[in-house]
Amino acid sequence: MASLDSPQVFVFEATEDERDAADDLAANVRRLGVSTPFVVGSIHGMRLAAQLDPAVPPITPPPGASTHFATELGSRIRRSGADAVVAVGGGRVLDVAKLAAARAGLTVIAVPTQLSHDGICSPVAVVPDESGLTQSLGAIAPRFVYFSMPTLKRAPVESVRAGLGDLMANPLALRDWALAAGRGLATIDQPAWDLSARSFEIVQGYLTGDAAEVAGDPAFLRHLADALVLSGMSMILSGTSRPASGGEHEVSHAIDAIFGGRAHHGAQVAFGCIISVALYGEDHAAFRRQLERVGLPSHPRQLSLSATDTVRVLLEAPETRPGRFTIIEDADLDETKAHELVASIWGT
Ligand SMILES: [Zn+2]
Repeated sequence: MASLDSPQVFVFEATEDERDAADDLAANVRRLGVSTPFVVGSIHGMRLAAQLDPAVPPITPPPGASTHFATELGSRIRRSGADAVVAVGGGRVLDVAKLAAARAGLTVIAVPTQLSHDGICSPVAVVPDESGLTQSLGAIAPRFVYFSMPTLKRAPVESVRAGLGDLMANPLALRDWALAAGRGLATIDQPAWDLSARSFEIVQGYLTGDAAEVAGDPAFLRHLADALVLSGMSMILSGTSRPASGGEHEVSHAIDAIFGGRAHHGAQVAFGCIISVALYGEDHAAFRRQLERVGLPSHPRQLSLSATDTVRVLLEAPETRPGRFTIIEDADLDETKAHELVASIWGT
């Protein structure tokens, strides 16, 4: 078991002005003893990074930046003489920066501009390889996470919905973990389990209505940020993504692998939860209504998937995480069974 090296979390909410947050971020980075950061940022994130004093001009990873790009960036960071990496942006930027920083042997200060998934402070980086296939790679979890409320309040509501969707996976991922442990295929790490369960509880009360109604509410954003950090910590603690990733994540990974992704990771994961809920024999209709209320996809067509596409996704799902046993592997679906499952959930 890896020791818990919890990231230090900073939250800026003193004013509504992102420029004040940019000043505060720069002051905090200096206070951490970082004198020449290497800045990896999205175009959006550059406003927040504006007051940093980087070693070299900031880098914006291009769309679809691959593991190869991250490796090259790592060498570049090393050569720059920077003493830390500050990553300012959405999940893609954070993941590329985590991977590059690990390559360069530097700590990462993560500054998410969206609360769309629990990779914010996880030790996993999801980055496509050269062929465009998404890879989940071990990286170093950020030592510091900085949340700028003025920035997060302006993030698209879809990102907030996705963040909630990613957390909806946790109870199911825990069930899958227990299922695997029952077969002697995994070992439960209780403290990590508890963190994952807690992270879901923090947001549970927000899953009864449209996320758009709370997306600009600082109290909600604090809760969502806390939950995503805790969920990431459950993965740091257990040294595996198991506490926050089960069969529903395999469904999302399969959508990425076959169709190149159809929505935010967290939205696809929420859709994957429907499959797990159905396979566990629970009320999938009620679960789908809950997704509808929050504003997450509850039908394959919302991800532009036909029934046949969905069957393909289900058959491909176990291949995305070989060696991981979840309710999907347990169901041992063949084409006929997958068709029946899809029809039983959404009709023919
Ligand atoms: Zn996830």
